Amino acid sequence: MSNPFDLTGKVALVTGGNTGLGQGIALALAAAGADVASVARRASDDTVGKVLAKGRKGVSIQADLTSIEPVERILDEATAALGPVDILVNNAGIIRRADAVDFSEQDWDDVMNVNLKVLFFLSQATAKRMIADQRGGKIINTASMLSYQGGIRVPSYTASKSGVAGLTKLMANEWARHGINANAIAPGYFATDNTQALQDDPVRSKEILGRIPAGRWGDPTDLGGAAVFLASRASDYVQGITLPVDGGWLAR
Ligand code: NAP
Repeated sequence: MSNPFDLTGKVALVTGGNTGLGQGIALALAAAGADVASVARRASDDTVGKVLAKGRKGVSIQADLTSIEPVERILDEATAALGPVDILVNNAGIIRRADAVDFSEQDWDDVMNVNLKVLFFLSQATAKRMIADQRGGKIINTASMLSYQGGIRVPSYTASKSGVAGLTKLMANEWARHGINANAIAPGYFATDNTQALQDDPVRSKEILGRIPAGRWGDPTDLGGAAVFLASRASDYVQGITLPVDGGWLAR
């Protein structure tokens, strides 16, 4: 039997693939055989270079995912460069921190737009194409520990990531019959730009580390196995889950 985790010939589109967790996911998918389009405001030259070095094709697509305006262009560019998208990884995300009593409407809207609204409409546009072509596919959303917990000083982030877990189930419910798997990965605490403020805060940093049974912050490469699993045939009967990759954080 052929390797059920093999992604040879598949095209993956990874939002926020130029850095942090998205880059870790993009490189894991490429190592498993996929060609990769990386979408971000900045160019994804580093990621594309590393994808090419693995013998796969790669393309950098620059777009601002604050609004749904670039959604069709992104899919058109990815398809023109690599072929139709088989695997969509909605990873781009932002966070804003302020006490709930002071939280601004701007910080609410900015986070909800990137983390939830555009995630949904990019998924919708991708699913429409997958359904029209009768190809099926895989949608992988990036959730968070704050899909399960409330967090502190991050109201819009918590709302968005709790929303991601719910939307992932809705997508599975509606699109499974078209051969589309929709699932999410919930990273624990990973050392990236997104968590720089926490890493720099000696009190919060010590609290967080003390609660992680694995005894360390996550590294972007730690997400590769879950991403390849959810992108591959190995997960064909897995639907609507949010898979924690958290060093045991939720087990405490
Ligand atoms: P990061 O290093 O800050 O990466 C964020 C990515 O999103 C970048 O590639 C960024 O690229 C892209 N992005 C942000 N705003 C965008 C926009 N308006 N348009 C297009 N792309 C945009 O943080 P990260 O930790 O890797 O975060 C990746 C995902 O994991 C996020 O959804 C985050 O919420 C989630 N997450 C992270 C952790 C953690 O511990 N680090 C834990 C749980 C979940 P540009 O700036 O070039 O646009």
